[in-house]
Amino acid sequence: RLAGFPMEKRLDDFDVSFQPSLDPAVIRDLASLRFVHHAENVVFLGPPGVGKTHLALALGHEAVKQGFRVYYANASSLIERLMKANRENKLEERIKALTKFHLLIVDEMGYLPFDSEGAHCFFSLISRRYEKSSTIFTSNKSYGEWGEIFGDHVIAAAVLDRILHHCTTINIKGDSYRLKERRKQGLFS
Ligand code: ADP
Ligand code: MG
Repeated sequence: RLAGFPMEKRLDDFDVSFQPSLDPAVIRDLASLRFVHHAENVVFLGPPGVGKTHLALALGHEAVKQGFRVYYANASSLIERLMKANRENKLEERIKALTKFHLLIVDEMGYLPFDSEGAHCFFSLISRRYEKSSTIFTSNKSYGEWGEIFGDHVIAAAVLDRILHHCTTINIKGDSYRLKERRKQGLFS
């Protein structure tokens, strides 16, 4: 069972040609899971509907198939849980539990900002995973805007420094796939 996965998405169901900004060779390389073997990170950036969550879940699915332990979490609920653990003096325990996963998927960074306690908890998690295990992030915010997510440019810089040291960034610049499907249904002209 895929821990925390909200739904199943497959790479085979992803139409790479719909997003001309995506290099199929890069997606193939990610699908090889070399990045998981090397404890590297992947960040999908782009506006809503371009397939960030689909690709993250599909890579998670591939990793599970190859026997890796994978955990999916929405960024806001992950931070909520870390902060709750922090208040119960269990942050270390919670982070340690998360280190058991070879691949962590943190979806939707940036939809909701963190307060400074949340930012510190998140930094602890990222520091612990750094160079030991992989994390996939998705975000609708460019790296320059991550300071606003963390409400603290110093912490944002420290987090990004660790994430980006060994990282593939995929910038998806294109139309929403959801919009395309609605157009097909004739709801838009
Ligand atoms: P995002 O996370 O970037 O907002 P999603 O990954 O949730 O976008 O994609 C929105 C919907 O469109 C999902 O149902 C997803 O499976 C589908 N989708 C997005 N891009 C593609 C694509 N290139 N090929 C097939 N389905 C896609
Ligand atoms: Mg998404």
